[in-house]
Amino acid sequence: MNLVVMKFGGTSVEDPVAIRRTADIVQGRVKNGKSPVVVVSAMAKVTDQLLRAAAAAAQGDRTGALAISSRLRARHRDAAAELVKKNPHCAEIIDLVDQEFDSLDDVLRGLAALLDLTPRISDLIVSFGERISSRIVAAAFRERGIHSVHVDAREVIITDSEFQKAAPVDHLIETRAQEKLLPLVKERKVPVMGGFIASNEDGTTTTLGRGGSDYTGALVGGALAAEAIEIWTDVDGIMTTDPRVCPDALRVKIVSFEEAAELAYFGAKVLHPATILPAVKKNIPVLVLNSKNAACEGTRIISLAPHCKSPFKSIAVKKKLSIIDVVASRMLMTHGYLSQIFAIFDKHRCAVDMVSTSEVSVSLTVDSNAALPEIAADLSKLADVKYEGKKALICLVGEDIRGQNGMAAQVFAAVRHINVRMISQGASEINMSFMIEEDDADEAVRSLHAAFFQDPDPAVFDVEARKQLEKAASSL
Ligand code: ADP
Ligand code: ASP
Ligand code: MG
Repeated sequence: MNLVVMKFGGTSVEDPVAIRRTADIVQGRVKNGKSPVVVVSAMAKVTDQLLRAAAAAAQGDRTGALAISSRLRARHRDAAAELVKKNPHCAEIIDLVDQEFDSLDDVLRGLAALLDLTPRISDLIVSFGERISSRIVAAAFRERGIHSVHVDAREVIITDSEFQKAAPVDHLIETRAQEKLLPLVKERKVPVMGGFIASNEDGTTTTLGRGGSDYTGALVGGALAAEAIEIWTDVDGIMTTDPRVCPDALRVKIVSFEEAAELAYFGAKVLHPATILPAVKKNIPVLVLNSKNAACEGTRIISLAPHCKSPFKSIAVKKKLSIIDVVASRMLMTHGYLSQIFAIFDKHRCAVDMVSTSEVSVSLTVDSNAALPEIAADLSKLADVKYEGKKALICLVGEDIRGQNGMAAQVFAAVRHINVRMISQGASEINMSFMIEEDDADEAVRSLHAAFFQDPDPAVFDVEARKQLEKAASSL
């Protein structure tokens, strides 16, 4: 059946120009005999604005919340009107957009009266982004001659009830995908659904967490045993580091599932951390591609990457972390002590990234979050506790770190001017990570990038692009 899942991020559907470009990419796949299932994010920045509207309403600022909604309504209406001109589809899509915004306004008004923003209400509010974008994209595709059919993602992606970070229920998703998506694909239709949004078994709206549309794409790909999962974004693929920090970052042509998962977990925003899981289970290649440069071959993520002469594939950064030091007297560092500490993090549902212990202290790093004062209060029943925010974890990933002598020395020589707070090398054979002040993160990345990507292996990195840039610069 040549089924491919194509997930398009916020910038790939941000306005009519982007949506038309996306339609052309999908149409190209159809012409090449592929059967796409399309997953789209909310239009760029819409999720942030919906969260802002929710926060305003929760503070009783009804006017402010409705003003944000009204601006969003105008943006979506304008996009729909520009993309869908044929009758009666034009009136239908504007009507649908209006109905969705009317529902959103009702929720915001209710929230402004009750002032109680629960995770459940937050998910309901942000869900409008993908609900509406997917409607508009489906209609725009149809206008361009693609046999698209809108599918409500909440009828396919079933999760538990952990609002804001819900976990998928794989077997239900598989059944639903086969019931709701497969028949359309068999009829040569193109299903279009929103990413990120889902529902629990009772039908209440949930979400997969920020950036979760990638995860939706992978879940659908896994459920339908697609031949590929394509993640279309605004960069040429997985780069040697975030190109916003290092403009001379190079495209990585090929990485392993393990490397990509590590990079995503440690902050490479280009992929949601869970994206790789469904792909690994069914051994489906994941491609990261640029919707603004569709001719570029992107990054291919597969189970076994070829040997690479460079030690690292990419550098990721995770910001907004806190470090917690738990200091006990020697007497207390006994059997069972660590489990008591971890039980507290577990109670507050807080994931720990890195741990380092000494005779009398345990240092842990966690995402900065609102529960930190409560966690510290609970920990202080066991020992003295200090915590500090504004930390960043720098993570170098590559399968060829394995067995290379002296690599740590080279890494720390490259950042010798930066104060390193914590180091972890043992956790995974394919990553080396250390913690620094958040303000030093960009400088550290640039120094490491300059040290390790001077002479990259052309079999793995797109060195041609760099040569062309250098040539263009020298001719100026
Ligand atoms: P989308 O909206 O398409 O999901 P995101 O903004 O979530 O896109 O992710 C793409 C962004 O990820 C890029 O614009 C880039 O700034 C950032 N990024 C961070 N690390 C990397 C990396 N190693 N390679 C590519 N992009 C990265
Ligand atoms: N729209 C959601 C977000 O901004 C999901 C996504 O884009 O992947 O987090
Ligand atoms: Mg994303």
